[in-house]
Amino acid sequence: PALHIQRHQFVVDFVRGKKPKKVVDLGCGECKLLKKLRFHHEIEMLVGVDINEAKIKRYMHGLAPISTDYLQPSFDWLSIELYKGSVTQRDARFKGFDLATAIEIIEHLTPADVEHFSAVVFGYMRPGAVVISTPNSDFNPLLPGLSGFRDRDHKFEWSRAEFRSWALRVCSEYGYEVEFTGVGEALHGHHDSVGFCSQIGVFYRLTASYPPNTLGDDEDVFSYTLLYHINY
Ligand code: SAM
Repeated sequence: PALHIQRHQFVVDFVRGKKPKKVVDLGCGECKLLKKLRFHHEIEMLVGVDINEAKIKRYMHGLAPISTDYLQPSFDWLSIELYKGSVTQRDARFKGFDLATAIEIIEHLTPADVEHFSAVVFGYMRPGAVVISTPNSDFNPLLPGLSGFRDRDHKFEWSRAEFRSWALRVCSEYGYEVEFTGVGEALHGHHDSVGFCSQIGVFYRLTASYPPNTLGDDEDVFSYTLLYHINY
């Protein structure tokens, strides 16, 4: 299957295994991952945020239940909310989640904004787990015809070592631990030398309330705009 499908399938498998109740997708884009996750009955709350309001508005109606969904007794209660907002800014409604996903988004941020992202996600939202995927530049020589980055909007593409050093720093700063994996394997035994096409870090929070008030205030901030809300 295509790489973007493999990335979303990785999250679906993670949800099947860990059964988070509240899930937030950061940089939800066309809402494709949210559309897959809404069929997982252990999830009670599904939230997405993206900076691109037009994109959300174009795709959000695909999250509405089709009439037969209501007839399925196994749909208990699911609330879906979509926001316009930037992952570099705090919003108190995004605290208290079991899982946050950031699939192919950090490489769209400037290095300064990656720092804001780290502080907001790991320091403020503090979800129980975080799944982050980003291109692995060690793999790029295997991509035919590629010169430069995989996408014109990418601000960087990290090697496995660069991703690792960022992730480990985040863990020690904010009290998480991380496991490295990925999707998209090289053929012909290249794997050990180049790794996965998309690298993935799975972060787990170590302590509920560390560090206190990282961002220096107790006040709840609401910087995102609700665009869509539906209850199944
Ligand atoms: N996560 C989706 C997926 O897996 O298909 C979309 C990935 S797309 C390559 C990157 C997304 O990140 C875009 O929808 C873009 O609008 C969004 N984005 C970029 N910068 C952002 C920011 N600062 N805050 C929130 N979303 C952002």
